[in-house]
Amino acid sequence: MTQAHILGVDLGSTKISVSLWTSFGKKLKEQRFLTLEGGWQPNLSEIIQISKTYSQGQEIQCVGVSAGGPVDLTHGRLIDVPNSKGWQNAPIVKVLEEALTVPVKIENDANACTLAEWQFGAGKESNHLAFLTFSTGIGAGLILDGDLYRGARNLAGEIGHQIIVPDGAPCGCGKRGCLEAYASGQGIERQLNELREQDPTWPQTAKQLVEEAQSGSQRAVDLLKDVAHYLAQGIANLVFMLDIDRVILGTIAVGAGDLIFDPLKDRLQALLWPELYEGLSVVPAELGPELGDTSAFCVARIDN
Ligand SMILES: [Zn+2]
Repeated sequence: MTQAHILGVDLGSTKISVSLWTSFGKKLKEQRFLTLEGGWQPNLSEIIQISKTYSQGQEIQCVGVSAGGPVDLTHGRLIDVPNSKGWQNAPIVKVLEEALTVPVKIENDANACTLAEWQFGAGKESNHLAFLTFSTGIGAGLILDGDLYRGARNLAGEIGHQIIVPDGAPCGCGKRGCLEAYASGQGIERQLNELREQDPTWPQTAKQLVEEAQSGSQRAVDLLKDVAHYLAQGIANLVFMLDIDRVILGTIAVGAGDLIFDPLKDRLQALLWPELYEGLSVVPAELGPELGDTSAFCVARIDN
């Protein structure tokens, strides 16, 4: 008897990964390619071609797609993919289901990554958690009462756009004072740009800032501390609102380690009620380069 397998598709803005899994979560194959020019059609054709090579001799039971940007779950299509021409309203689910003749599920990548960290990474043993992407922007997924929470418009978790400084710095979303304008890759770069007007020796990117701090530069350590304090404000709001007991932080926090986590925890302790702070663990994401493929696998297993 052939064992049924699961196909995962991780649709990033610059690269796409197609992976094959056992139903128990063991990855058997993966293939990546750089996103092709020309919108969704050539990319879905490539995904279908790879999937068909996987399905020779293997029965594929279902497909999970983790997609960057907001997703129209009713119609199984992308709403908009920032910086990617030709992907708007891409009918991902319809095209893949017709070509592969198996059920296809889709979820935005923040939610998909949250499922992955919850089931396989830093979120195990918690049923009330938030995962914050903390890379170029800051998005989040929420597990509440042991279930993925999407909200009325499937926009839950846009915590990067909670306003933490009224009339503050401009955000990429068009509003002002959002958390993302202070505590994200873009937000850090905005602050570095301002600092470089006075002192051109400041670095340009968040990654360079972290490296400078790791080499002992006090000014870099202090700027990361400011970033951590903004982040703490945003996380404290979440904890007061939702009574979550775990917060998992992605990319920049994973790279910066204690340079972010130490000032973040100190600030959270100051901001939160003791009963909320004591039961709260704030931890780095664990899945690293496996996060994308694992998130697509988890989407395939969503049962609602
Ligand atoms: Zn914003």
